Amino acid sequence: MEMNKCENDSEARSLNFIEQIVEKDLAEGVNNGRIQTRFPPEPNGYLHIGHVKAICMDFGIAEKYHGVCNLRFDDTNPAKEDTEYVETIERDIRWLGFKWGQIFYASDYFEQLYDLAIMFIKQGKAYVDEQTAEQIAEQKGTPTEPGVASPFRDRPIEENLRLFEAMQRGEIEEGKMVLRAKIDMANPNMHFRDPIMYRIITSHPHHRTGRRWNVYPMYDFAHGQSDYFEGVTHSICTLEFEVHRPLYDYFLDQITGPNFAGLSPYGPDYRPKQREFNRLNITYTVMSKRKMLQLVKEGLVAGWDDPRMPTVCGLRRRGYTPQAIRNFMDKIGYTKVEGMIDQGLLEHTIREDLKETAPRVCAIFDPVKLVITNYEGNGETLVAENIDGHPELGTREMPFGRELWIERGDFLEEADNKFYRLSPGGREVRLKASYIIQATGCEKDADGNITTVYATYDPDSKSGTEGGNRKTKATINWVECNSALDAEVRLYDRLFAVENPSAEEGDFRELLNPDSLKVVTAKVESSLRSELHAPVLKDGIEQENHYQLLKQGYFVVDPDTTAEKLVLNRTCSLKDNYLK
Ligand code: ATP
Ligand code: MG
Repeated sequence: MEMNKCENDSEARSLNFIEQIVEKDLAEGVNNGRIQTRFPPEPNGYLHIGHVKAICMDFGIAEKYHGVCNLRFDDTNPAKEDTEYVETIERDIRWLGFKWGQIFYASDYFEQLYDLAIMFIKQGKAYVDEQTAEQIAEQKGTPTEPGVASPFRDRPIEENLRLFEAMQRGEIEEGKMVLRAKIDMANPNMHFRDPIMYRIITSHPHHRTGRRWNVYPMYDFAHGQSDYFEGVTHSICTLEFEVHRPLYDYFLDQITGPNFAGLSPYGPDYRPKQREFNRLNITYTVMSKRKMLQLVKEGLVAGWDDPRMPTVCGLRRRGYTPQAIRNFMDKIGYTKVEGMIDQGLLEHTIREDLKETAPRVCAIFDPVKLVITNYEGNGETLVAENIDGHPELGTREMPFGRELWIERGDFLEEADNKFYRLSPGGREVRLKASYIIQATGCEKDADGNITTVYATYDPDSKSGTEGGNRKTKATINWVECNSALDAEVRLYDRLFAVENPSAEEGDFRELLNPDSLKVVTAKVESSLRSELHAPVLKDGIEQENHYQLLKQGYFVVDPDTTAEKLVLNRTCSLKDNYLK
């Protein structure tokens, strides 16, 4: 796979190829100018950022062209599906900010699809095969060699009917029989070589229909028909389905036209059309549901919403915003070329978003105490802008006093004149949004570790006053000791140590980045105290609060936060390597 560059990293982007198709259809009055799309997840796992690419396309087309996008759960395999997944999928789409028209389930159509299967049998277009899955696979042939016909291919219609009905009554064991479409065992498109239409699943009840059904339709026999029943005009999916498209059309050919007017509410001229775009792949992660499930089940991550996971709930907990994720999709665009997107672009996009909105606060990761020896009194409250130079974005209060926490690295006992921060007898340094100080000395413990730094301050140098204009070579961060909060800070990094874990041989779990999580305790300023209360709800959805911890990166308040303990997750560092 080659590394994809950004398709359109500019403000006003041109139409993508699907939008071009839609505009042409609109201009030609196809389907009476109706635009209807659907997002069709299988409720067998959590949504990941790859799905969001499809979501932005499906919902985006409907939004842009005043159509509707419905949510359709493609629930044709009860062995893997569950209501838990239905609920999280709905929640994640809502959080992303998209609104569906209606919710449908493929299982809504089990009755109609079963009737169509009976019709296919009666028309001699389907037969019950008693071979094993292995035998059927062996007979498929290759793209250049025709397949071999099943010995059951020409059994009489009556027998097919009787057996299929027996399959549905639960009289046949799972795996013993399937219903196959009788199409063409020599077709160069392998999907035409008598594809399976129905299989038996008796081992698991269906999460909606319970034990009503013992046979379940395959994707190819369910998807196009479901589109048709609902009135979908543009059935947009990923490129791996391109080879299924002729079969999608074949099945529709058998059920559309004047003889089948009752099947769809949109008349004999209406036809859904399938279109395909390139999947999203991102470096340093995996998006296969099977692999993600394994990571969760084996405790290699903390859950589906672990902030290192590429799931929507993981990205959210990591501090990604819906806007940044949507901007990312806009930047990568939609094409017909498979490729790999640099995770750096995703990080770049969230950084660009948070840069504009996240309030800045001080946090000290490796604290040492600073005592201002000439500071008299009990302290005072300073006011700082949430984002420097943007008074319209509000201000916050910063308690100030005689004892502060500063970063250990901001003080050197002995320094040369290239060191601009604190050193005894050295330069003047500004405390962020506060006064100018000068170091005078330090105290050490028996092992020689510095325990306290001493300094004096200039009372006339306060930021925001005339003396505040005096320049220093360096500004350092601080947090007042009495009011400081201790925060558990989770420093996340990429989940995998290699660029494309799916392309490597061997066990993908051995490719995990051993340093993807470090936990530290930091001193943070008291303005974050409000985060110790219940989360803020907007439209019934919990809102994440984002901050830039000065010099450290962008962080989000984690839901593990309690009234006693603040927990912050690092979304990304401040440094952007992507543009280099
Ligand atoms: P499965 O292997 O279980 O079928 P899936 O990733 O295809 O997994 P679905 O729930 O069937 O999951 O996907 C719903 C929709 O999301 C489909 O239309 C699919 O094309 C799209 N989709 C899934 N993965 C990606 C991806 N990486 N990039 C873009 N679209 C994706
Ligand atoms: Mg799928």
